[in-house]
Amino acid sequence: MDFCLTEEQKMVQEMARGFAEKELKPRAAEIDVTRLYPLPVLKAMAELGLMGMLIPAEYGGSEAGMLSYSLAMTEIGKACASTAVTMSVTNMVAEVIHTFGNEEARRAHIPKICDGRYAGGAFALTEATAGSDPASMKSSAKLDGDQYILNGSKIFITSAEHAGVFVVWAKTDKDVGTKGISAFLVGKGHPGFVVGRSEDKMGQRGSCTNEIVIENCRLPRGSLLGQEGEGFKIAMVALDGGRIGIGSMAVGIGLAAIEYAAEYAKNRIQFGKPIASFQAIQWMIADSFTELEAARLLVLRAAYLREKGQHFTREASMGKLLATETANRVCYKALQILGGYGYVKDYPLERYCRDCRVTTIYEGTSEIQRMVIAREILGQEFV
Ligand SMILES: Cc1cc2nc3c(=O)[nH]c(=O)nc-3n(C[C@H](O)[C@H](O)[C@H](O)COP(=O)(O)OP(=O)(O)OC[C@H]3O[C@@H](n4cnc5c(N)ncnc54)[C@H](O)[C@@H]3O)c2cc1C
Repeated sequence: MDFCLTEEQKMVQEMARGFAEKELKPRAAEIDVTRLYPLPVLKAMAELGLMGMLIPAEYGGSEAGMLSYSLAMTEIGKACASTAVTMSVTNMVAEVIHTFGNEEARRAHIPKICDGRYAGGAFALTEATAGSDPASMKSSAKLDGDQYILNGSKIFITSAEHAGVFVVWAKTDKDVGTKGISAFLVGKGHPGFVVGRSEDKMGQRGSCTNEIVIENCRLPRGSLLGQEGEGFKIAMVALDGGRIGIGSMAVGIGLAAIEYAAEYAKNRIQFGKPIASFQAIQWMIADSFTELEAARLLVLRAAYLREKGQHFTREASMGKLLATETANRVCYKALQILGGYGYVKDYPLERYCRDCRVTTIYEGTSEIQRMVIAREILGQEFV
């Protein structure tokens, strides 16, 4: 067992940290208030190789690997969660296209994701009636000659307003549950594919989250990813990797919160002493760092297994569950350490709490992670 990072992983971590501290941290509060999707920042991140970290160089990716991706996501998440979730979904979409797209689709889209010509990618699975249960989706795709005709709608789609390319799920056979779901690639502005309003969210407000209306959207047959009926599998494979990204980001948000609170505690004087000298505060700080470190190691283990080509579904769900639940608890305690100052917008703690909240919801709620973990342990027949 070797807990040391390679020289390359350390370089990626330092590069991401340097960029995040210089370019993201100073802007994060403004991004939150203005809800401005940070387009120039995303372009700069693409130039640093942060948008195609799991993609081979021949398609313009940086081939950094899952461990480096996790390390980078933590650094970006620590500085600006809105930017981190955009990076996470974009990397996930690039990987889906690389794994399941045909060569034409790979060449058409992946280089544009990696070099920032596309302002991100979007992953359009959720519908009004199909959140935790994608099998109940209503969107449909029907083959008509050499084209698929898509109809339906999506909600809560991260980056949809700006993304250059979308992975979209629809039913090609409505009678066979998850086996009737297929995945398609749709380019920005494609006729019949209309991005609607952006949700006014509690946190991660610089990341847009949109509805999509799909009306007689005609796609060439080659837009199908994988085979007909493979869509559910594609979504699950993508989400396994995606959960490592969200877990890594959550660790970053938690660290940002508790590091800020620890510094604050050294300088805030009450009863004639820094509050850092009170055991109640010390224990909140000690527990928070300990739990975040445990979560970070579990997420990195999932990344390690993935990088070694081993089965990592269980560890990815465990990592996401532990990291996101821990980070929320840590943000809550960190805010408590600031007292009333934690509750006002002059300090970043209330933003960290708001930004962290959604991490236990998207890419599978904590309840769904527990179902996945239980299924991996007990077997499909029990869950
Ligand atoms: C900011 C944001 C960004 C998002 N981005 C995307 C995106 O880019 N692409 C995309 O496709 N989706 C996206 N989503 C959607 C997200 O993945 C869903 O919100 C999530 O999967 C939960 O679905 P739901 O909201 O419909 O909740 P529901 O599925 O209705 O769940 C409601 C509650 O019931 C619980 N529950 C449901 N089923 C079970 C069960 N079997 N056992 C126990 N408890 C259960 C849930 O855990 C939850 O607590 C995003 C959501 C948000 C808020």
